[in-house]
Amino acid sequence: MPLLVMKFGGTSVADLERIKNAAGKVKREVERGYDVIVIVSAMSGKTNELVGWVEQTSPLYDAREYDAVVASGENVTAGLMALTLQEMDVPARSWQGWQVPIQTTSAHASARFIDIPRTNIDAKFAEGMKVAVVAGFQGVSHEGRITTLGRGGSDTTAVAFAAAFAADRCDIYTDVDGVYTTDPRLCDKARKLDRIAFEEMLELASLGAKVLQTRSVELAMRYKVKLRVLSSFEDTDENSGTLVCDEEDIMESKAVSGVAYSRDEAKMTLVSVEDRPGIAAAIFGPLADAGVNVDMIVQNISEANTGGGPVTDMTFSCPTNQVARARKAMEDATAAGTIRYAQLVVDTDVAKLSVVGIGMRSHAGVAATMFKALAAEGINIKVITTSEIKISVLIDRKYMELAVQALHDAFELDKAA
Ligand code: ASP
Ligand code: MG
Repeated sequence: MPLLVMKFGGTSVADLERIKNAAGKVKREVERGYDVIVIVSAMSGKTNELVGWVEQTSPLYDAREYDAVVASGENVTAGLMALTLQEMDVPARSWQGWQVPIQTTSAHASARFIDIPRTNIDAKFAEGMKVAVVAGFQGVSHEGRITTLGRGGSDTTAVAFAAAFAADRCDIYTDVDGVYTTDPRLCDKARKLDRIAFEEMLELASLGAKVLQTRSVELAMRYKVKLRVLSSFEDTDENSGTLVCDEEDIMESKAVSGVAYSRDEAKMTLVSVEDRPGIAAAIFGPLADAGVNVDMIVQNISEANTGGGPVTDMTFSCPTNQVARARKAMEDATAAGTIRYAQLVVDTDVAKLSVVGIGMRSHAGVAATMFKALAAEGINIKVITTSEIKISVLIDRKYMELAVQALHDAFELDKAA
């Protein structure tokens, strides 16, 4: 039997009516001849509520009990989805992670898959079950404790099942009808993409386009899972939504496919830090140890200092809520005598803006177009970094929306390739 994985996010199963709507979509695929594995999220808002209860009960909670509580949201939806399907005469059964069993590492709240054995579910398909409804976001450790995968983890569960069961496709049903060239809330010319390459999606997902958990895209890319994002609130067919696929499956691409942004960035500069071998390691080692996610890094050209040896400025960016931790790491390193600098300058009013596209590999002048468009709006660029398929800049946060629109226009993203 051909097999499909269908994943329904929190808003798609927010109440009994919506579960019925989702079940209707599953039933249609069964009627088309598919066996289906349905992966469900918790009803929308549920996981936040459960996390809140844990934090109120125990501020320094035991992560094993956090997972025991937080995983329960998905259990409820899985059972309700199976019941709804049964009411529609579709033979369905629910599975919690441990029943499959979905084996994960014991890194509670951020567990990773080790194995998804097919035996139990395949045996039920062989007995005539048409739909296995699996609770997303959870698994079981080798100690036999319930684990969860980190927020948004149901996407990753879906892709992992699609890989393990060699599904024809992994359809992610959500509250938007696909992946857009940029955030439609910021730019009314944003256009839905029919296709996007895994690598582009990976950049967009990690830059804050919240449609898919980043790890799910990594996994899909590694196992070549045909991944699709589509709306659970519309009538859909095989061509709906956005297909996330291999670069080779995209006929022609523009230089830039999308514009992404992240509001909560901060820029930190160590002014006049000594310029000597090992200085970058002495700065970024402690930052990593403190759990600071450093993103952009710029080291200025070296200058002769009046006093000692040559000095330079080192600038990096990190999420705003990690600034305090980063500052402390730098102060501790100074106290320990491993680094010396004149001043630590922090700018928390910046935003990161990126253009992403596999087409950059073959199109010249992308950076120039980007910088001209920003200049035309009088927007100053504070930091620039590039990779093979991405150019990112830091700008003043107050210009973010304007900048997104300017770049969307400059790269004509409202028009198809
Ligand atoms: N319910 C979990 C969350 O809200 C997992 C998911 O929906 O993907 O993060
Ligand atoms: Mg999600």
